[in-house]
Amino acid sequence: PQRTWKHDSGGRVRVAVRLRPRNAEEMVADADFADCVELQPELKRLTLRKNNWVSETYEFDEVLTDFSSQKRVYEVVAKPVLESVLEGYNGTVMAYGQTGTGKTFTLGRLGEEDIADRGIMVRAMEDILAGICPEQDSVTVSYLQLYMETVQDLLDPSKDNIPIVEDPKTGDVSLPGATVVEIRDQAGFVDLLQTGESNRFAANTKLNTESSRSHAILMVNIKKHVKVPVEDLDIPNENGLSMHKSKGSYPPTVRKSKLIIVDLAGSERVDKSGSEGLALEEAKSINLSLTALGKCINALADGKSHVPIRDSKLTRLLRDSFGGTARTSLVITIGPSPRHRGETMSTIMFGQRAM
Ligand code: ADP
Ligand code: MG
Repeated sequence: PQRTWKHDSGGRVRVAVRLRPRNAEEMVADADFADCVELQPELKRLTLRKNNWVSETYEFDEVLTDFSSQKRVYEVVAKPVLESVLEGYNGTVMAYGQTGTGKTFTLGRLGEEDIADRGIMVRAMEDILAGICPEQDSVTVSYLQLYMETVQDLLDPSKDNIPIVEDPKTGDVSLPGATVVEIRDQAGFVDLLQTGESNRFAANTKLNTESSRSHAILMVNIKKHVKVPVEDLDIPNENGLSMHKSKGSYPPTVRKSKLIIVDLAGSERVDKSGSEGLALEEAKSINLSLTALGKCINALADGKSHVPIRDSKLTRLLRDSFGGTARTSLVITIGPSPRHRGETMSTIMFGQRAM
C-alpha cells in the first residue's frame, strides 16, 4: 500500500541541512570574515550570503545548527525512516555534501570514547535491535563501497566487482556474492563497521585514491515475524471461557524490510580542465552517479512516474529502497566558511531540488 510519511505529505524525500562548526584552520584564516550562512532553525530556514549586499533564504524540512547534537540529528534525519523500516517498509538515509563538511561525522561515528558522539549508523542499529525479537527475527548487514561504477565488498576485499541484480518481477535488488553478516548485538555491529572501515582504507590505498571519491553503502536486511492478529488467539471472555477463534487462519508471516545508509562521495566539482588520468575518471564517475541520484530524487519530488533509476549503479542499488512505499531521508552537510561559498551554494541547490 502507498503510505505517507508520518510527519508530512506523501512519498517525497525529506531534506535536512546540517552546518558544521568552523574548524581550527577556518577560525584562524577566515577570522576577519563572517560565516556565509545564517540559520534560523525554529523557522527551518537558512540564509546564504552571496556577497555583502545579496543574500537568499531557503527552507528545509529541518535545519540543524553547528550546536545540534548527534542525538538530535538522528531523531530528525533517521528516526522516521527507522520507524517505518521496523513496520516493514524499505528506507534510505543519505548524506550529501562537499568533502570535509561532516557526512561521515553524521553517519559513521562509532562513539567509542563518548557514546554521545555516535552517528546514525550505530543509533539505527540500536533501534533495530530493540525493535526485533532476537529469538526468531534476523538482522543481516552488508557493507560496500561503490567506486568508479564498481561495487566492492568492504567485508571481504577479495570481492571487488559484485553484480547488482534486479528481480524483473518484484523489482527487488540483490548483490549475489556480497558478504552477509548476521548481527546479534551492538558490539558485533561496531566491530563490523571497524572492519569495513579498515578494509576501505586498505583498498583505497591500493587504488591510490581517497574515501571521499567513493560511496560507502551500508545495507541492513531485517526479517521480522509479524504477530498474529489478536482476535486470532485464544482469549478468555468475561466468563473465563476461552473464545476459540479461527486459529491458524492467519499463518504467521515474516516481514522483510531493508535499510540503506549511504555516505556519498564528496560532491565538490573537480576542475575537469585541470585534472587528468585517475582524478578525471573519478570526477566523471562521481558526477555521473550524483547527477543520476539528483534526477531520481527530483523525479520523486515532482511526482513523475518515470524515475531514471538505470542511469548509474548507485541508483540501481537504491531501486527498491527509494520511492514507492519506501521512505527516503537526505541530510545535506555544509561548512560555514565564505571561501567555500560556491560549493555550499551547489549543495543547497541539490537539497532544494529534492524537496
Ligand atoms: P566528510 O565525511 O563530509 O568528508 P567528515 O565527517 O570527515 O567530513 O568531517 C570533516 C571534519 O570535520 C572531521 O574532523 C569532523 O570531525 C569534523 N566535523 C564534521 N562535522 C562536525 C560537527 N557537526 N561538529 C564538530 N565537528 C565536525
Ligand atoms: Mg567522509
